[in-house]
Amino acid sequence: MAWDFSTDPDYQAKLDWAAEFVDTKVSQLDLLWPHDVYKPMLPEQRAIIDPMKKEVRRQGLWACHLGPELGGEGYGQIKLALLNEVLGRSHWAPRIFGTQAPDTGNAEIIAHYGTPEQKARYLEPLLEGDIVSCFSMTEPHAGADPGEFTTRAERDGEDWVINGAKFFSSNARWAEFLIVMAVTNPEAGVRNRMSMFLVPADTPGIDIVRNAALFGDPEGEGSHALIEYRDVRVPADALLGEEGDAFGVAQTRLGGGRVHHAMRTVGLAQQALDMMAERALSRRTRGRVLADMQAVQLHLAESYLQVQQFRLLVMNTAWKIERYDDYQKVRKDIAAIKVLTPKVLHDVAQRAVQVHGALGVTDEMPFMSMILTAQSLALADGPTEVHQVTVAKQLLRDHRPAEGLWPTAHIPTRRDAARRALLGAP
Ligand SMILES: Cc1cc2nc3c(=O)[nH]c(=O)nc-3n(C[C@H](O)[C@H](O)[C@H](O)COP(=O)(O)OP(=O)(O)OC[C@H]3O[C@@H](n4cnc5c(N)ncnc54)[C@H](O)[C@@H]3O)c2cc1C
Repeated sequence: MAWDFSTDPDYQAKLDWAAEFVDTKVSQLDLLWPHDVYKPMLPEQRAIIDPMKKEVRRQGLWACHLGPELGGEGYGQIKLALLNEVLGRSHWAPRIFGTQAPDTGNAEIIAHYGTPEQKARYLEPLLEGDIVSCFSMTEPHAGADPGEFTTRAERDGEDWVINGAKFFSSNARWAEFLIVMAVTNPEAGVRNRMSMFLVPADTPGIDIVRNAALFGDPEGEGSHALIEYRDVRVPADALLGEEGDAFGVAQTRLGGGRVHHAMRTVGLAQQALDMMAERALSRRTRGRVLADMQAVQLHLAESYLQVQQFRLLVMNTAWKIERYDDYQKVRKDIAAIKVLTPKVLHDVAQRAVQVHGALGVTDEMPFMSMILTAQSLALADGPTEVHQVTVAKQLLRDHRPAEGLWPTAHIPTRRDAARRALLGAP
């Protein structure tokens, strides 16, 4: 019997250190450079940030999503979840702790599928946090359904030549290399028709047409690229994994990414709840603090319930990933937390806005940015609806249709059966 919700004291000490470090030091980067998280560092930033990263390494908390063979700590998913809750409170924290998406997911698939040469060229600098990478999958005309993708890679002698367009290739403008998903076997089914390529960003033929900005980003700071690939020639060894295997490679990447986002969102939603509680205790109306108003208490209680339920599901999912070591076996739970991630963050942040009144909708508080983040999380890594369908399909696998006319729980039918069994009724 082992249902234990406690954290061992050694690791709790590390979490306490991380919380203090993030809240007092790393959060200052959020205030000074809110839009620079994905960019190559300026010299004055490097002078501050490199020592912070060193401190994280000294504490044994660098790149905790990776095993020791890749320079991580190999703490496993539950410890990772607890740490990610802390990192979710700061925009910069994942970068300072070597767990920045999309680089984490990109590193994960290179580690998983890359050749030794690919690992030496791309993985090592990525893990060091020295370079930024880009995952180029979504297309201008198709996102949620990879069966609609048309970007092509065709053989030409020893090389592959890529042609097509991609949209929302985040951070392409700063990336050292792009991981491009392209159709190589058009006749095959969706699971086998595409391949993944590692493409250096300076390869001729890559044209960043524009960088879409999220609402609220400053002018010129957009980072979600529309890219045209025109006769982009890469050698045969640019293939990541086997030809036709991109679907499986992408699933490996997205599985981990969705879980990491959920773990961090627990921390972010908790942060919004903490701010709501502080405001409720501070702001006065009709001679009392807001916290005395029942309606405000409902906002607080609903938020607490949502965050706690979400947190338990995330932790349970982390436990299952650790136990089965196979994202496929945890598909239902990963899809479930993917559905909950934007909903919980949105709902709690929205209540926090309301409790803060007019101040809540300004850019002097972080809530509107949290709501926008929630909406992005409802799309990135697959829209909510797609994951709801996955939850439903997966759970239906564990059920069977009723054999007769009536449901198996039909009370009169069961009562008749009980009469026959216990009373000898005909
Ligand atoms: C902040 C952010 C960062 C991103 N970064 C990247 C990146 O780095 N690389 C990359 O390749 N992509 C990236 N994306 C794109 C992301 O993967 C896509 O937005 C996502 O796959 C959905 O595709 P779409 O936006 O084209 O929506 P569409 O496919 O056009 O879907 C639109 C809507 O239709 C509905 N819908 C679609 N399919 C179904 C279905 N099967 N069942 C029911 N309803 C459905 C849903 O309401 C859905 O939201 C990013 C997106 C965001 C918001």
